[in-house]
Amino acid sequence: MSEAMQFWAEGSLEKNNALVEYLKQYGVVRTDKVAEVMETIDRALFVPEGFTPYTDSPMPIGYNATISAPHMHATCLELLKDYLQPGMHALDVGSGSGYLTACFAMMVGPEGRAVGIEHIPELVVASTENVERSAAAALMKDGSLSFHVSDGRLGWPDAAPYDAIHVGAAAPEIPRPLLEQLKPGGRMVIPVGTYSQDLQVIDKSADGSTSVRNDASVRYVPLTSRSAQLQDS
Ligand code: SAH
Repeated sequence: MSEAMQFWAEGSLEKNNALVEYLKQYGVVRTDKVAEVMETIDRALFVPEGFTPYTDSPMPIGYNATISAPHMHATCLELLKDYLQPGMHALDVGSGSGYLTACFAMMVGPEGRAVGIEHIPELVVASTENVERSAAAALMKDGSLSFHVSDGRLGWPDAAPYDAIHVGAAAPEIPRPLLEQLKPGGRMVIPVGTYSQDLQVIDKSADGSTSVRNDASVRYVPLTSRSAQLQDS
């Protein structure tokens, strides 16, 4: 990212579009579908004041959590885009700032379902406020986008099965309830590991069998209990 971009501090769709353009040139945004949703959801609305929203790095959102870097959001959207078609169901575990849940909601549309699960109640309040200011506000009002305070390792059975499951925190191993709530024909993207982590892509075939591949080495905050997460703050 150019030095000039580092100093952008306030929201503006023009600057947000420039970030998407940068991600295109960098090769992580590869399709119009992903570019379009990232242009529609202004990242600045999801980054706390005082931090630079358009820099390609994670930013702290409090409670030992971060909003993931734009290139990680783009990577996950590209991996999941075929499973985020209008009418489909998507689960975002560890929804944090709410940015990706909002993108998922825009892609599955009013006939679909986008569910964000987050175990820090204050982050659910913040993510709700963020979405209210964004292009996804109407979807939350209509109920096709919702956030819930819960342990994401249990998934969210109410809207299962899911075509797409995204996990935004690293799990020591793939939680079984998430595998069970993945629809046959669906895809899950989840960072797995402790210190060293791989972004795993799990595809469930029509007969219910699963295949797993590693997409990249990554660094996410842990998928853990609320008390363990808040301990080192
Ligand atoms: N995709 C989010 C990532 C936030 S960081 C974003 O870009 O904003 C990961 C989030 O996972 C944190 O908000 C953290 O509080 C949450 N988390 C960690 N363990 C969890 C658990 N067991 N259940 C629900 N959320 C969890």
